[in-house]
Amino acid sequence: MLTDCIFCKIIAKDVPNYTIYEDDHVLAFLDIHPHAKGHTVVIPKRHAETVFDMTDEEMKQISIGMKRTMERLKKVLNPDGFNTGWNDGQAAGQVVPHVHIHVFPRYSTDGGGSMHSIVKNPGDMPVGDVAKLFAN
Ligand code: AMP
Ligand code: ZN
Repeated sequence: MLTDCIFCKIIAKDVPNYTIYEDDHVLAFLDIHPHAKGHTVVIPKRHAETVFDMTDEEMKQISIGMKRTMERLKKVLNPDGFNTGWNDGQAAGQVVPHVHIHVFPRYSTDGGGSMHSIVKNPGDMPVGDVAKLFAN
């Protein structure tokens, strides 16, 4: 636990939350500034700043927690779909430095876009040249 981390404070129950799902490893609660009806964040109970600070076991646990959260949201709000993902690092828009998966319930008339609308800047290399960087 980090004493100055807002999400660690939520886990410690020093800050209130609207819980959607909880188990031994994961807590999911409604985002306080929702971008969709039922917008939820799923967090590991152990503080980790980014995915690179998490163990493989913790990745399994948060994936299961995300699915359970989606099942709960589906049952209660019955959205037409979901976007899930996380802002990993400041360049990707991460503000709270405690890993969290955003779960956006989606509704056919909500006017939103897909994951592809996050960024549209393919860079200055053709895909084939990028692929060569991964050779070997
Ligand atoms: P990110 O930009 O990915 O770091 O998003 C952090 C998210 O945490 C934002 O969507 C905030 O609205 C949300 N958030 C911050 N503080 C709280 C809080 N106390 N309870 C619920 N959600 C929060
Ligand atoms: Zn934390």
